[in-house]
Amino acid sequence: MGKAVYLIELSVAFAMMSLGIAIQQLHYPSVLSLNMGLSGVCFLIFSYFFARGIVSLDHKKLNVWLSCSILILALALRFFSARDADQVEFCYSVMILSVYIPLIIFIGLALWKVRHLFFGNILEKIWLLVISVWFLSTLIRLAYFSYSPDMLKILFLGNSNTFYGDFIELQHVFYGLILLFSILTLLVAIKRLVFDINRKSRLDGLTGAYNRLGLHYFIEFKLPKLQSFSLIMLDIDFFKAVNTRYGHPIGDAVIKEVVLLINKHLSNVEHQTIRLGGEEFLIILPTIVVPQLVEIAENLREYIEKYDFLHLADDLTITVSIGIGEYDASSSFQDAYKDVDSKLAVAKQSGRNQVVGLV
Ligand code: GH3
Ligand code: MG
Ligand code: MG
Repeated sequence: MGKAVYLIELSVAFAMMSLGIAIQQLHYPSVLSLNMGLSGVCFLIFSYFFARGIVSLDHKKLNVWLSCSILILALALRFFSARDADQVEFCYSVMILSVYIPLIIFIGLALWKVRHLFFGNILEKIWLLVISVWFLSTLIRLAYFSYSPDMLKILFLGNSNTFYGDFIELQHVFYGLILLFSILTLLVAIKRLVFDINRKSRLDGLTGAYNRLGLHYFIEFKLPKLQSFSLIMLDIDFFKAVNTRYGHPIGDAVIKEVVLLINKHLSNVEHQTIRLGGEEFLIILPTIVVPQLVEIAENLREYIEKYDFLHLADDLTITVSIGIGEYDASSSFQDAYKDVDSKLAVAKQSGRNQVVGLV
């Protein structure tokens, strides 16, 4: 599952919400103050983890210190007020507010952080809309409690009348919406997970560059949209000797660093770096044409040659051999690949540490 922490966070949230509702509905424990205290703890943990889940779905984080301070304060208030829940009206209000206010802060903050998802796909739009409606229903419930002293009296006396009936209806809408957004959230989370797994499967574990699956993805989905593209094929010179002299861990570090150097050097140019295997890389440049390509490749070669690798090992210097070419996107990618590979072979045969463009 890797970094799909949002699934854990959302699961904790929904488990807590279900537990909180169950405690209240089953009247267990039967002592009101304890029942209210425990369900409040569940609802608070729900709102915190739900907010965390929402933002981490989008690879963001809530401010931990702020959230924990609110949570601790709210928990303390809930427990102290729940002690006298069946005796003092004021305590009852504090008990309700101690859960609702943090809930509104957490969810409001989370919704604000992921607001741009409203411009995402249809599932994300519906999801955000349902959570927002639920958020509004929470505000209405809060207003109901805060501005209806009669309501509190009715609740204390346990009488039922239309006012109470209204509230029960609101309560049902509230729980119904929770159920709906739970299902939608899980759908969004699963969709994200599949997307993340797909994306990661196209990346090389050592360097973070694309792997061969990434190359196939490019050929299948991106290449058909292009008129032409350029290729740079690069192989580190005498790399076996680096492994032999300094060991494989240093060899790995060199490979990683070369990818960093490539991406840094090409940071202003649209490009995809693919690790073909070992210390061989293919760089696809969809927007670059020949005169620029020669300059870019030559500068890259020089950049790596002059780069200081001494922080990895004493006397370590690295050079690369490069083949380049510009190709028509309508012709076969295999032909382009073959061509650039043969240019790299020429660069190797001609003494390495050079760029070969035209054979
Ligand atoms: P040339 O200049 O002709 O390219 O010589 P070379 O020694 O670099 O030869 P070649 O490109 O064939 O060598 C590739 C070596 O890279 C062979 C293999 O031991 C090593 N290698 C492949 N993958 C890895 C890796 O992930 N980590 C490390 N440390 N070494 C690797
Ligand atoms: Mg090599
Ligand atoms: Mg090689």
